Amino acid sequence: MRDYSNVPVFILLGPPGAGKGTQAKVLEDQFGLIQLSTGDLLRQAVAAGTPAGNAAKSVMEAGGLVSDEIVINILRDRLADPDCAAGVILDGFPRTIPQAEALSDLLTSYGTQVHAAISLEVEDDAMVERISGRHTCDGCGEGYHETFKRPAVEGICDKCGSTKFRRRADDNADTVRRRLVAYHDETAPLISFYKKTGALQALDAMGDIGSITNELRQIVRPITINVRGVQVSDKITKTTQMEETQ
Ligand SMILES: [Zn+2]
Repeated sequence: MRDYSNVPVFILLGPPGAGKGTQAKVLEDQFGLIQLSTGDLLRQAVAAGTPAGNAAKSVMEAGGLVSDEIVINILRDRLADPDCAAGVILDGFPRTIPQAEALSDLLTSYGTQVHAAISLEVEDDAMVERISGRHTCDGCGEGYHETFKRPAVEGICDKCGSTKFRRRADDNADTVRRRLVAYHDETAPLISFYKKTGALQALDAMGDIGSITNELRQIVRPITINVRGVQVSDKITKTTQMEETQ
């Protein structure tokens, strides 16, 4: 069996609107990590017709929920792909303690572990304000915000002069707050779990995107270098050196 002991594994935890997708992309680009989201994993496995993918397909076609066991099998298969050797970021998995335990067992059997569970911490009130204030011009799609970006002339789009604006139905304050409450309920046990394993890293995600990226890099870079050890590829060494000189 392949040696996975030099494969860094990260988990990114954060509520909708915290910029998880953007940050994961940065980590992919800068460290060669592969982002694995549950939805993508399932789709790929079903399309590839692997045994676990076929199992997932029949469950989904019957309208059922794909079991943790199937997801773990799909993840086991995916980790064996060569591109994952540089390291992975899990997004959307695990969501529960049984999933976290199953993941831990899988990684242990591979000789690796979750090196950091990075929690993007947000202030709920500020998040509600940030998300629920968003709206876009109906005419040209320009984005506005009630607090942070109002048109120069009230009610008239700066770009196209339209007076019609639209707002995503699920961006209203009540919905955003409900989403956050659900997120905290779901994530709190995981936060405790990874606190116990020593992998938890909390990161203030209320600043601007650039400074969050910087803090994230400071967590990810040393772990990545350390875990990869001597097997660091040229590409990655170059990327890291470039960053050091920035
Ligand atoms: Zn407009």
